[in-house]
Amino acid sequence: MKRRDFLKLAGATAGAGSLAGLAGCASVAPSKARVVVIGGGFGGATAAKYIRLWDPSLDVVLIERESGFTSCPISNLVLAGYAGMQDISQGYDGLRRHGVQVVRDEALAIDAARKTVRLASGGDISYERLIVSPGIDFNFGEVQGYEAAMNAGRVLHAWKAGPQTLALRTQLEQMRDGGVYVLSIPLAPYRCPPGPYERASMVAAYFKQAKPRAKVLVLDANPDVTSKGGLFKAAWKDLYPGILEYRGNAKAVGIDAANMTVKLEVEDVKGDVLNVVPPHRAGDIAQKAGLITTNNRWCDVDWRTMESKAAPGVHVLGDATLSAPAMPKSASMANNHAKIAAAAIVEILNGRTPAPVQILNTCYSFVSEKEAIRVSSVHAWDDKDRTLKAVAGSGGVSSARSNAEGTYAWSWARTIWADSLA
Ligand SMILES: Cc1cc2nc3c(=O)[nH]c(=O)nc-3n(C[C@H](O)[C@H](O)[C@H](O)COP(=O)(O)OP(=O)(O)OC[C@H]3O[C@@H](n4cnc5c(N)ncnc54)[C@H](O)[C@@H]3O)c2cc1C
Repeated sequence: MKRRDFLKLAGATAGAGSLAGLAGCASVAPSKARVVVIGGGFGGATAAKYIRLWDPSLDVVLIERESGFTSCPISNLVLAGYAGMQDISQGYDGLRRHGVQVVRDEALAIDAARKTVRLASGGDISYERLIVSPGIDFNFGEVQGYEAAMNAGRVLHAWKAGPQTLALRTQLEQMRDGGVYVLSIPLAPYRCPPGPYERASMVAAYFKQAKPRAKVLVLDANPDVTSKGGLFKAAWKDLYPGILEYRGNAKAVGIDAANMTVKLEVEDVKGDVLNVVPPHRAGDIAQKAGLITTNNRWCDVDWRTMESKAAPGVHVLGDATLSAPAMPKSASMANNHAKIAAAAIVEILNGRTPAPVQILNTCYSFVSEKEAIRVSSVHAWDDKDRTLKAVAGSGGVSSARSNAEGTYAWSWARTIWADSLA
């Protein structure tokens, strides 16, 4: 790429570091405006692609710190050995084919007044509209001793798919038959309400096959299973009696790494593998940029455009948002948020007014190698309460677990990966 093209792309304030990051991008045609997207997960990748599809005259620059995309959906199957890391990993060439300029870098700061993003490699990128979809980070401090125990390899969360997914699989493989795997779930809201219960089911399925004397102990800070409760409990009773034990109102407050113990408010629980998922908040960049509006954790948005209530011109997507009523933090939702934002940004940058839209959530969970269960809902704009609300009578849950739902679950995953990235 010629330097003058780069300067056109990155703005006059860009430094040498970002030049390296952007090298290899296709040369840039004159454009109406530039949209910068932070985060190439379900929200950011989908938004980048759809803006280019709906208005190819807009420049889209995606800033992602990782070299490729790793999917949390299906990652629980990797723990059981029913899928591999190759099934949940892919690159960003699909987005490049849509003309998205993918920059491997970390966004360090946002100046919403100057409309620039500071990159870790040096320099700033200017934008007309900014999308921030950084996913979650953790409030490690709420579980005493967590970070030290994690750094010592004594506890994992594996709640961002990637190296910790593989590390947890290895720990499960190395655990003695007769050992105890402890899964600790934080108070809602957390990403993927049914995700922990799917994980418990997958580990139980693996133990049933490979270590029949081993146990899964679920310590849930919530009073009861937060999603598809009846279906999960029926599966556990039928498939994993004597293997999987569930305890509600069991909030982890500390880790004693030396004794491999999770400290609850009233007792200590020992395990051989400690998989403690700490409480979440919006990703670090949202915090640094002052986009967090609520409980020091989440970013409130206008659900017609996904525009931040804290910073005009900045749209926040996915898990980082303060969820609308009855809206889960899911890949399905992040993908839908992205389409709201993409449509709104295209309208705004073309001088038109965005219209509110209706969106759909579907979330499958495996309960055994082949069988899955599903929950779905439709969310529509409510003009009186100025938010998205679940449409009465829409959605619901599967009538029972089945192999057919398992087939649909794999189809859902392949479809959303393609919709977001290909
Ligand atoms: C075990 C598990 C199972 C799940 N299963 C399902 C499921 O079956 N169905 C479903 O719908 N959902 C599922 N989910 C939830 C789903 O993964 C999340 O809701 C979804 O990933 C949210 O998308 P996002 O864009 O908000 O964040 P993410 O997908 O996490 O993407 C954030 C991206 O931003 C990047 N990033 C962050 N900060 C920066 C920065 N400063 N600079 C550059 N890049 C940055 C990160 O590297 C990451 O790539 C599951 C989650 C888990 C943990």
